[in-house]
Amino acid sequence: MNGQLAENLKKAETHLRRFRDSVTAHYINGEPSPGISGETFDNLTPTDNTSLGLVAAGSAQDIDRACRAAQEAFPAWSRTSGKERRKILNRFAGLVERRAEEISLVESMDCGQPIRFMRAAAARGAENFRFFADKAPEAGDGLSLHQDQHLNYTKRTPIGPVGVITPWNTPFMLSTWKIAPALAAGCTVVHKPAEFSPLSAMLLAETSREAGLPDGVWNTVNGFGESAGKALTEHPAIKAIGFVGETVTGTHIMRQSAATLKRIHVELGGKNPVIVFDDADFERALDAVVFMIYSLNGQRCTSSSRLLVQDGIAGRFLAALEQRVNSIRVGHPLDPATELGPLIHPSHLEKVMGYMDAAREENAIIAAGGVRVAELGPGNYLRPTLFRNAANSMKIAREEIFGPVLTAIPFADEEEAVALANDTSYGLAGYVWTGDSGRGIRMAEALEAGMVWVNSENNRNLPSPFGGMKQSGIGRDGGDYSFDFYMETKNVCIAHGTHRIPVLGR
Ligand code: NAD
Repeated sequence: MNGQLAENLKKAETHLRRFRDSVTAHYINGEPSPGISGETFDNLTPTDNTSLGLVAAGSAQDIDRACRAAQEAFPAWSRTSGKERRKILNRFAGLVERRAEEISLVESMDCGQPIRFMRAAAARGAENFRFFADKAPEAGDGLSLHQDQHLNYTKRTPIGPVGVITPWNTPFMLSTWKIAPALAAGCTVVHKPAEFSPLSAMLLAETSREAGLPDGVWNTVNGFGESAGKALTEHPAIKAIGFVGETVTGTHIMRQSAATLKRIHVELGGKNPVIVFDDADFERALDAVVFMIYSLNGQRCTSSSRLLVQDGIAGRFLAALEQRVNSIRVGHPLDPATELGPLIHPSHLEKVMGYMDAAREENAIIAAGGVRVAELGPGNYLRPTLFRNAANSMKIAREEIFGPVLTAIPFADEEEAVALANDTSYGLAGYVWTGDSGRGIRMAEALEAGMVWVNSENNRNLPSPFGGMKQSGIGRDGGDYSFDFYMETKNVCIAHGTHRIPVLGR
């Protein structure tokens, strides 16, 4: 074991001890709450699948308590001035920055993401809060729309208490991304984190209190989707659900929320194409292709999991790619040298390994990886994997694998690239690499995806819309788009006093 890993493990242990020593509670109405049923579940670290401690398994009653707390806190929080909300949320961001090391160490151990990325994710969490804190004073702003004899103006008001349900891939960053705009808008929140990675949600909830958020504004209930998550989507006090997770779960969210007519925003899966043309900048394209599938353990909704590469460079590009993939450093997530950590859970590893069999059955070539990394012990370690000789009709090209697994498919021309890229049920992201700017624009227009990057990896601009088309979701996050989701828009129409009113019965 190298020195830096040993040091990080020691530091992580000091932060993890509390989770090992006592049951991780819910956080309801400003305080930790053990849960009404007393039921718990075991939280495993992907590094070796040993326990990081027990976590309270929330029931419908716990959700009810949390939702009622959020409902009671809503009137005062929604009337708190934007400037005051800005102050509190900026304080929150500062506290996250101060706790960044603790957050990143705990997060890495809990979800297996390499520490090099989790440090950045903690910083991004703080940035999300600062961004929306600064927007809080303008959250209610609207338009003024003039007619000859009437003045219309619109204004936005917070929709009410909202539910936020998050996945396990980058739990801390994603939670801040969904919760910060809700609080800035004046909504109160009940958060249900993923059962595979609950720890950073508790750090967030604690920080909310330290930042001065009033009791009941931020509530967290741990537990399983089918029980706690479902109860949250069905609770009458909750006016909207912000959900991030799998496409199939998204359909459950819609169904479950229907009876109480909630507004929903679902950010779901993807099978995103990265299209590399013959005239692309070879090295930059190669760097981006590698980064966008093998960073964050490939457990990334915007990962470019389908490589479409033009015939003229396919041979050279795939050879270079293969070499790079074989050189990726797989290791313990707390080792600063590690580029690829263990997958979240043995069940997920098993699912991903199933695609190795699928590749063989359909006669694709496993050009790199395809096997577990036995020398790293009992954790969920997998060698980064590259499939060649694939066709877009194969299972490995159609289904979201959500791991460090890339499927490469050749194409002849622009027309075929568009056809292959769009031949998918998903529509989250697309990446285009070309030296021809006109072609870049034409491709961006033609791709059926909520987000297209030309000659770039995923670069996030916080005011820009984030979200997908087709089976990748409904709704957009980011800047004002987030406020549109968490707020109602009211139109007020005032007459100049000069127009003719239709007369009846005079
Ligand atoms: P998941 O759908 O299994 O779980 C997500 C959350 O939903 C968890 O908190 C879970 O407990 C909860 N849940 C499950 N069933 C529920 C139900 N019936 N009612 C209410 N809540 C329920 O997803 P996952 O496996 O945790 O995450 C991986 C998925 O997330 C991938 O498909 C990935 O593409 C997607 N994702 C999408 C984005 C995006 O922005 N589009 C971002 C990150 C991850």
